[in-house]
Amino acid sequence: MKIGVLGAGQLGRMMAISGYPLNHQFGFSGNSLDEPAALLGHMFALEDNADYIESLVAFADVITYESENTDVDMVKEINKDVVVYPGEKSLFITQHRGREKALFDQLSIPCAPYQMVNSLADLKKAVKDIGLPAILKTATGGYDGKGQFLMRSADQIKEAFESMSGVEFILEGFVNFKRELSLIAVRGLDNDHKYYPLVENTHHNGILRLTIAPAQNINPEVQKTAEHYMQTLLDEMEHVGVLTIELFETENGLVVNEMAPRVHNSGHWSIEGANTSQFENHVRAITGMPLGDTTPIHAFSAMVNIIGKNGPTEIALNMPNAHLHLYDKAKRADRKLGHITITADSQTQLATSIEKLKDFLP
Ligand code: ATP
Ligand code: MG
Repeated sequence: MKIGVLGAGQLGRMMAISGYPLNHQFGFSGNSLDEPAALLGHMFALEDNADYIESLVAFADVITYESENTDVDMVKEINKDVVVYPGEKSLFITQHRGREKALFDQLSIPCAPYQMVNSLADLKKAVKDIGLPAILKTATGGYDGKGQFLMRSADQIKEAFESMSGVEFILEGFVNFKRELSLIAVRGLDNDHKYYPLVENTHHNGILRLTIAPAQNINPEVQKTAEHYMQTLLDEMEHVGVLTIELFETENGLVVNEMAPRVHNSGHWSIEGANTSQFENHVRAITGMPLGDTTPIHAFSAMVNIIGKNGPTEIALNMPNAHLHLYDKAKRADRKLGHITITADSQTQLATSIEKLKDFLP
């Protein structure tokens, strides 16, 4: 099939790399001709063609997207000509933190206490009701921790409010977590579901730096609970494709942070670490192919992000159990330029391999 991707970043790039062996073709849309996926398929770019979205739609048998910030009205229009997966409902809900939390409440999925905020008065009330510390976030458009203000004291209310841009915010109570986890799953057109194991994520300044897969010391009941939340969400949204949920592990069990209707940075390990990668499974799902087995191949995998500068990538090239992925992006502070996957058959090998890549970690 011809798969059209709205976006041409690293996620689209890795989708294409996984989809060609299955005999699919790819087209991408983006602003310029030099985006990370541009050389991996037909590139429809605004700088080249004012009707670039129409051209992508004309090319494609099915459309998918790279970001939950994709315009829903545009997707509605596209859907009249070519089917878009994941569908409008998944996109509409996951691009707005308030809608997402309302759905968690409706489905009895635990999440942080929250209130929507449209004014300084709303924020004062929300701080009173939720308490501090709390995080003020833009309702839409955030990524890599952008558009967030961690409030520790009531003196910061005005500063927090003024730091926000946009119109709608959400105040979330701070969750005292032990670890951050994520769960990636895929739902097919035939309603088949497959789950990857919970993975453990370490962030620095709001940016994911390290994923360990599977997360260590996870009670099977915890995996089951996370899969139950996931299944409820997949079915409620009639989701087709990969869905990711980010979770906090707390003293009182799992608390869901947010979800993404797409392949996720915390699933990049699956390229070498699982029988079928998240990218291939997303491609399989949206093209109506049977889903692939999600079982890990090794006892452990780890994913180290390459952020801001390329760093000593030859270290990874010289490790037998490491795999380098660069996204053909220009260097810029805090930018995701690539990642390295490590596979390991023991905890010791995992630890020594991560240690070798310490220059990439904060
Ligand atoms: P990304 O796109 O990278 O997932 P994001 O910008 O969508 O990030 P969040 O996932 O909501 O934002 O927040 C980024 C990080 O900030 C979280 O991974 C977590 O470390 C921390 N964080 C967010 N919300 C809370 C909370 N309510 N309590 C404690 N920590 C939080
Ligand atoms: Mg997040």
